[in-house]
Order: sequence, then C-alpha cells, then structure tokens
Amino acid sequence: MHASYAIFNTDTLFTYIYNPMKTMTCKELGGECDAAMTAETSEEMVKKMTAHVMENHPDTAKKMEEMHAEDPNKWGDEFKKKWDATPAE
Ligand SMILES: [Zn+2]
Repeated sequence: MHASYAIFNTDTLFTYIYNPMKTMTCKELGGECDAAMTAETSEEMVKKMTAHVMENHPDTAKKMEEMHAEDPNKWGDEFKKKWDATPAE
C-alpha cells in the first residue's frame, strides 16, 4: 500500500484551510436586535448567542429558558435548521 502514499490528503487540507464562518443576527436566532454574531461552528454560535441574549435581553433569555424547560430539543432543532440554511462566507 506504500505506493499509494500521498503527501497531501486533499480532503484534510481543504478542511484545514477552508474554515467557513457563518454570520447570524440576534433576531434570526430568536432575539430582538440586529447584532450580528460570527462563528465557525454551530456550538460556538450557540455559546455566543446565549451570552449575548443573557447580557442584552434578560427577558428573552428567560423566555428561552422556559421554552427549553418545556421542550429541550425545540430551540436546538430550529437553530440547527437555521444554521444549516445560512450560507458560509
Ligand atoms: Zn440582541
């Protein structure tokens, strides 16, 4: 199998160099202002959004918390759909 050895695995190289950023606004994520947040991964976006809402919109944060208590998957599912639909930059 040594004959097929390649210095660069193009898939890995592509992933390494191409780190797409996605930008979403507070409103898009269920908040109430136009603040834009940029993240490389959906996990990072959730963290940024949560921090932003707790800091800037305590009422919305409370509603989200209640919604989350009722159905822990609802916000996450909706968020994932929005994240996937957002084009990478
Ligand atoms: Zn906001």
